[in-house]
Amino acid sequence: MEKNLEQISSLCKRRGIIFPSSEIYGGINGFWDYGPLGSELKRNIRDAWWHFMVQWRNDVVGLDATIIMHPRIWEASGHAAGFADPMVDCKDCKKRFRADQLCEEQGKKLIQTGKTFQLPEGTVCTACGSKNLTEPRSFNLMFKTYVGPVEDDSAVAYLRPETAQAIFAQFTNIFSTARKQVPFGVAQSGKSFRNEINPRNYTFRSREFEQMELEFFIRPDEAVELICGKVATLADNPDLNGEPQENWGWEVWHRYWVEQRLAWYKLAGLPQEDLHLYWQTKDELAHYARACVDIEYAFPFGVQELEGIAARSDFDLSQHQKFSGKSMQVQDDRLRLVCAEMSQEAKDAFKAKVVADWTSRGKDAAAAEQFVEDLFLGRYVPHVIEPSAGTDRLALALICNAYDEEKLVDGKGKEDIRTVLHFAPALAPIKVAVLPLVKNKPELREKAWKLFTDLRRDWKCAWDETGAIGRRYRRQDEVGTPFCVTVDFDTLENDTVTVRLRDSMEQIRLPIAELPAYIRKAITL
Ligand code: ATP
Repeated sequence: MEKNLEQISSLCKRRGIIFPSSEIYGGINGFWDYGPLGSELKRNIRDAWWHFMVQWRNDVVGLDATIIMHPRIWEASGHAAGFADPMVDCKDCKKRFRADQLCEEQGKKLIQTGKTFQLPEGTVCTACGSKNLTEPRSFNLMFKTYVGPVEDDSAVAYLRPETAQAIFAQFTNIFSTARKQVPFGVAQSGKSFRNEINPRNYTFRSREFEQMELEFFIRPDEAVELICGKVATLADNPDLNGEPQENWGWEVWHRYWVEQRLAWYKLAGLPQEDLHLYWQTKDELAHYARACVDIEYAFPFGVQELEGIAARSDFDLSQHQKFSGKSMQVQDDRLRLVCAEMSQEAKDAFKAKVVADWTSRGKDAAAAEQFVEDLFLGRYVPHVIEPSAGTDRLALALICNAYDEEKLVDGKGKEDIRTVLHFAPALAPIKVAVLPLVKNKPELREKAWKLFTDLRRDWKCAWDETGAIGRRYRRQDEVGTPFCVTVDFDTLENDTVTVRLRDSMEQIRLPIAELPAYIRKAITL
């Protein structure tokens, strides 16, 4: 079935999944609210991510940091100077565009020389067709505000454009309290804000959105080499589905996280064939990044990014070390002990090799020497692998993937369309709907209500006693409820219920006592 974003967004509005923000005042571009069912969906996504990334592992801990932080953080991270998109205006119709997107839509590429941009020959306004466009100019995407009552320059602060920086800024506190050794990670989910020039594609590009980010800290390859003698690369065919190994270098760790994240999207219900990996080319990579891959999903409006997974070297922690004057080095006892056993000759040879390697890549020899001296004492600034996902983008991908309009033919040959959201049961906003067959029979209603109050202790449940039972099933199909449990006259006799399954529309009869185990098994990720 060809999926259509308009039909999907209209269902989301009609069934309380997503509303335009501030709609009674005409809405506000780039902001969306999640209604009664959307808020459940988002909570389920966040929880499932947390389970997979934190709870099921022993090498990741969590953080919940503030949205407004010291403005120096954004100087250190590079956002204050460089978190900008090129913007152009049409002088005729006054429409504003992100220059790279405007070019892309016309099959062209924006010309970039250093920090300046130029539109390629023949670029036109996609709204009115005019060639009368301004030169592209940089526009910083961070939302600015003031902390305290005085609105002067010293009080300027920013709403965070990503959650990741707080993890770097809190790195030493976390390292000294979490009792973890490198390699280990810190996960955080929460709101981020970007004053996007052109919010579009429904919630895909919003100005306020949520991210789920992991910073996974690893040893620099030189430390791995000292400890293990040789650094494993992808050419060594490491087992990426097994336990991580001590000899893994950054390249293997990066690939490991790509595989982990793909496995998670599969658990979340996105079919493998709709997920694509886009490896950034050398030209596209940030200067400090060694590799970056985007996990993309085939949305109805095109294949677009869900998550970026970057190998960022020690760039972030080193920047904060430089700007804050606080050391971001860790003490790695395993490394220190290995180095304490090394001969001076072996150390000299190792140092010479690292200095030659660094200088061949245009780096400073003195810095390389200091780095190696620190390694011999078991100290280094950790490198990082960053899987950074968008909660709202995933919610949209899951809704698009789940949406279906099925043509049904009843016993009398009458055709009908069933709208259904085939969510993975673990992520469905409502897990179980309890339906008393009729509402005017107090005994039956009481029995059903008791079942409802029992089940809702564990799962989000719905109660629906109005309308014909078939219509009630359809109402639940539309919001993706995997199980409808009907309490009928037989229930009063033998304590069994009908469980009607969303996807197959099959109905099975189960004893009430077996119901919780049945549901639990089906909704576990
Ligand atoms: P883009 O190139 O699409 O602007 P980006 O590459 O700058 O995005 P990142 O900085 O890598 O995005 O952010 C990590 C993730 O955060 C993205 O993969 C996406 O899921 C989410 N994200 C980023 N910007 C937005 C936005 N404006 N609205 C919704 N989600 C976003």
